[in-house]
Amino acid sequence: MEHQRDTYLDYAATTPVDPRVVDAMLPYLSDVWGNPNSLYRRGREAYTALEEARERFARVIGAEQPGEVIFTAGGTEADNMALLGIPTRARPDGGHIIVSAFEHHAVLEPAHELEKRGYEVTYVKPRPEGYIDPDDVRAAMRDDTVLVSVMHANNEIGTLQPIAEIAAIAHERGAYVHTDAAQTLGKVPFDVTALGVDAATFSGHKIYAPKGIGALYLKRRTPMAPLIRGGGQESKRRSGTQNVAGAAALATAAEMVVADLDTEAPRLAALRDCLVEGVTSTLENTVVSATHPERLPNIAHLIIKGVEGEAMLLQLDARGIAVSTGSACSSGSLEPSHVLLSIGCPPELAHGSIRLSVGRYTTAEDVEYFLDAFSPIVNRLRDMSPVYAKMFGSHAG
Ligand SMILES: *Cc1c(COP(=O)(O)O)cnc(C)c1O
Repeated sequence: MEHQRDTYLDYAATTPVDPRVVDAMLPYLSDVWGNPNSLYRRGREAYTALEEARERFARVIGAEQPGEVIFTAGGTEADNMALLGIPTRARPDGGHIIVSAFEHHAVLEPAHELEKRGYEVTYVKPRPEGYIDPDDVRAAMRDDTVLVSVMHANNEIGTLQPIAEIAAIAHERGAYVHTDAAQTLGKVPFDVTALGVDAATFSGHKIYAPKGIGALYLKRRTPMAPLIRGGGQESKRRSGTQNVAGAAALATAAEMVVADLDTEAPRLAALRDCLVEGVTSTLENTVVSATHPERLPNIAHLIIKGVEGEAMLLQLDARGIAVSTGSACSSGSLEPSHVLLSIGCPPELAHGSIRLSVGRYTTAEDVEYFLDAFSPIVNRLRDMSPVYAKMFGSHAG
């Protein structure tokens, strides 16, 4: 067996739960177990904890009122609520929606569903550099456009989108604006009011809270039909007895990532730059997938020409290294990533993509270990690859 070092470079797929977040949850998994909707003491205790978490989370994201935060079972649910709920309440008889073509599937699939329900959807293509040009959104706007949804940062290629400009354009024409911010809280300065959006998606497990908790920010007076109906919790916007421990975890995790932002963002950016530099300087025919300079500090996305992403992933896994190719949800399928195709990357190159994402527990030793392991793996795969030989000759040539 080759030397192994457990090396996690997939923080954009999920993060471990921070032990301090576990501590913040524990009271609600033991003593404080009441139903927050019950009126007796035990219920009121849970209610107080839930509302305190809501206030803290609202403050972190810059919401004006705690009631603008709706706890959900994750980012996917929040995206579905916004995409399906806002148009159907604001324009029940149909209308036009704009989304970017490189959204997460949690936005794209509800958009397809809206088409089946009679809405028209424009999928705005990103520029090859990896960003949505506000002028392209302006050109797509119509009088009946009811919702514009563009993600704050792309979860594969890591590029940031000009949301404030897009929101201003959409609002001029009377449309509502949603942004999927699952990747950005704690990575870049974040404030829903400064962005000017009406709705925003958050996911706990991208910020060191557990899977299965998230939130939708919904600016007051934004119409939204509920996706989940029942007992009327969350002011009738999301029924179901609330996940009090999850809410406490989300608020604590959000406070922690934002408090650490000023020190953590440059540290992560330096690790990311080492990864990019290390790969592109030692391996020829490797490039950064999207060149837009506005980007998350923690994601490096690279095209390794002539090599299958899956093959790299498995060889790295054998060395104890976890990375992504395409995106986690579509791995296992042989379809190249819709994100890479949307920025004009040819399918044969998209197949050779790799996403490296760093986080709170990544060290310089992790980066060094990865770089030591990676070149030999790529060279070996290229030596065996008829495609690579045809495209470039031998890996050395
Ligand atoms: C992870 C992620 C989601 C989905 O969030 P879950 O909590 O896993 O449902 C949605 N959008 C983006 C951009 C993500 O990164």
